[in-house]
Amino acid sequence: MAMNRIQFQPGLSLSAFQQQFGAESQCQTALEQARWPQGFRCPHCQHPACYRIQGRTHPLFQCRACRKQTSLTAGTLFEKSPLPLRLWFLALYLIGEAKTGLSALALKRQLGVNYRTAWLVQHKIMQAMLERDASYQLDGVVQVDDAYLGGERSGGKAGRGSENKIPFVAAVALDQWQHPRYLKLSPVAGFTQQAIRAWAEDGLQPGAHVISDGLSCFGAVTQAGCTHEAHVAGGKKPKDLPMFRWINTLLGNVKTSLSGTYHAFAFGKYADRYLAAIAYRFNRRYRLDTLPRHLLTAAVACMPKTENKLRKKAEVAT
Ligand SMILES: [Zn+2]
Repeated sequence: MAMNRIQFQPGLSLSAFQQQFGAESQCQTALEQARWPQGFRCPHCQHPACYRIQGRTHPLFQCRACRKQTSLTAGTLFEKSPLPLRLWFLALYLIGEAKTGLSALALKRQLGVNYRTAWLVQHKIMQAMLERDASYQLDGVVQVDDAYLGGERSGGKAGRGSENKIPFVAAVALDQWQHPRYLKLSPVAGFTQQAIRAWAEDGLQPGAHVISDGLSCFGAVTQAGCTHEAHVAGGKKPKDLPMFRWINTLLGNVKTSLSGTYHAFAFGKYADRYLAAIAYRFNRRYRLDTLPRHLLTAAVACMPKTENKLRKKAEVAT
């Protein structure tokens, strides 16, 4: 991995970020531009002209045709949030820049808000990351592996078949030099043909060439229009095989990141979001300076989420 290129790229410094987004009015302008890059469009009738009214916290836009009012934040991840946009933007920055993730507790301290608010902000932003990357499918050569989240149980069976673990598929699309391009980390109901077929239909482009270590369920990717190449380890651990180098390096990073940043979280409930946040950052590792802006676009595209919905267990492919 070209680590130096990633680690030494400039990124966006906190002071540069504060200069651009330190004031509420700057954040309102940035959000308005992200929402309507071509200028205002009424969400009710698509009319392009409006009157601007100063609302209680954010500007309101009154359509000149249908007269309906739209809040700046309506229909985005920030809808109905009492938090000033500058704190939301700071959270986007901190979460986007944190290479190994940022816990709700750290976010609480950085934003100066209570834990529940920090948790909600964190999970809403991670949900936006998840939804953004869910719209992309991996193509070309894709290396896959079965992996689990959840602490190692002493005396328990290691790896496959362990109890109390959340199974997830780690998949990385490789470029022509066999370097990783994009990463997808997806919780699945289990390593069954049915679950892998559903996962492949969702996350892979038909025609993708899948390389696995021979776990039989991965053969089901052929039912989703992909080809499958199995490398049976034959006494050698897959991690020792060269073609599994990337996936094992990446999985090692995932585990370090989760155990170092989040001391405890409900793996079963929120695994999809934590994993998606790691993959989102990885997939934009060469664009750190513009990552907060990308994240803003993702937040604008993400429909509002209620706390109840965020606290419900995520559904995974069965
Ligand atoms: Zn209208």
